[in-house]
Amino acid sequence: MVRDILLWPHPLLSQVAAPVDAVDASVQALIGDLFDTMYAAPGVGLAAPQLGVLRQVIVLDTRARQPESCPIAMVNPRLVALAGTTTYREGCLSIPGEAEEVERAERVSVEYLDELGQPQRLDCEGLLAIAVQHETDHLVGRVYLDHLSPLTRALIRQRMRRRKRERASARPAAPVGEAL
Ligand SMILES: [Zn+2]
Repeated sequence: MVRDILLWPHPLLSQVAAPVDAVDASVQALIGDLFDTMYAAPGVGLAAPQLGVLRQVIVLDTRARQPESCPIAMVNPRLVALAGTTTYREGCLSIPGEAEEVERAERVSVEYLDELGQPQRLDCEGLLAIAVQHETDHLVGRVYLDHLSPLTRALIRQRMRRRKRERASARPAAPVGEAL
């Protein structure tokens, strides 16, 4: 099910998400919602806190840039090794209309539980490595803006506040069909 994505700044986007005890049906449903919402946006990664759910679950799909990769859901992901540095112009589904160069590790190794609760380890690079770092940041209440200067962050905060106000005051679309 496609769900609403919280827009930054939002208090839930600054909170630390709790680890998942067991990958049960509710976690699998959350993973399904994350994929549905990410593809509808569209985006290449999404973290549960962006849906207002403070649990350590992320989904990724970087096939558009890395055809050899595949869609991945990660529960309780932990970065266990980082190497090199790279910069990439990142956006975020919670910060629409903005993108900035962010410096991150070039290669990462991540340990996580898959959607069946099985422990996995993935070594990755390129956009997938960047997306893993971006999404795991969301699980500790960080967004990519936290890697930038306070001035840049303040300017984007101003623009986002204005966008949120405009959205809130926009008239809802006219009902179609049998509205009474
Ligand atoms: Zn994001």
